[in-house]
Amino acid sequence: MKISYCPYTLNPRRPLNSVSAKKERSGVLLKVEWSGRGIVGYSDLHPWVELGDQDLTQQLEGLKSGTLSELSRQSLKLAWRDAELRQSRRNIFANGSAIKNNYILPDGSFDDQALLKSLRQDGFDTVKLKMGRDLPSELASLASVVAAGFRVRLDFNASIDFKTYLGFIKNLSSSVRDAIEYVEDPFPFDFQLWNEARQYAPLALDNFGTQVPWAAWNQFSSLPFDVLILKPAKTDFETVVHLAYKHNLKLTVTNYMDHPVGSMHALGIAMKLKQEHGDKVLQAGCFTHHLYEQNLFSQHLTTSGAFIQPVAGMGVGFDSLLETLPWQILNTDFN
Ligand code: MG
Repeated sequence: MKISYCPYTLNPRRPLNSVSAKKERSGVLLKVEWSGRGIVGYSDLHPWVELGDQDLTQQLEGLKSGTLSELSRQSLKLAWRDAELRQSRRNIFANGSAIKNNYILPDGSFDDQALLKSLRQDGFDTVKLKMGRDLPSELASLASVVAAGFRVRLDFNASIDFKTYLGFIKNLSSSVRDAIEYVEDPFPFDFQLWNEARQYAPLALDNFGTQVPWAAWNQFSSLPFDVLILKPAKTDFETVVHLAYKHNLKLTVTNYMDHPVGSMHALGIAMKLKQEHGDKVLQAGCFTHHLYEQNLFSQHLTTSGAFIQPVAGMGVGFDSLLETLPWQILNTDFN
């Protein structure tokens, strides 16, 4: 296996969540060649150090020496998926069902009535709000988003504590509370406290392999949440699907707020799981390119309302762009 990489940066239009400032984000695209098979696949590697990932230098060193992180392991798996699709001359859209996406409302736009109206007209019915930076003002804005007719997904990134969360959720009007599809990571995972918090609104767990080790999940007979957030960039989907069936949980597939190559990989997995598991798979969260300034890749992303359209080419698409990047060889030959 020969791995090459190409660094990139993404420029957020505004701060992306409660744990990141508005600063340039770095990652690498990977080109993986399985010379024995004569096939090539592409993927993304976009660490979030703020969320516990190794930084890019460590990730690349690990890849070079064959000591994989959760993230680089998934990057190789997704590159393999891409390579197989390319070999059989299929796009990810040939391998799944169409899936709607939620819309992430950037900070400061919760009250933007013109935006909310145009999103409704475009067919979005679910928005995701990153919460926890300024709770009193978010509370007021949440009401206007709900009044505009949206179902909402709230994501705190575990940035507040249990007491603050209860103060928040108990104060919501019933119309706002009814509009909450789920609350993602309200505060750091704790079995008892999540069980209590779950009485007020359904809960979703993100970053679960990090918060509680994988092996530990199997010890529980029931889990104190309703939805698992699956990020193919970081977690093997088969393990997550298994857990979702075992504990009767729904799944939301999201990207890693990463490069369009990573986003299309996440969408590909979302569509595949939608086709195989139907209603168990909720609306996806792969529509995030609007959070960044446009680049050579995102300008090829087209959408139809809440649906992302195929990108021309095989696998995740972008064929000619990917072929002409200035790839640097990582020089690895592990199997
Ligand atoms: Mg999250």
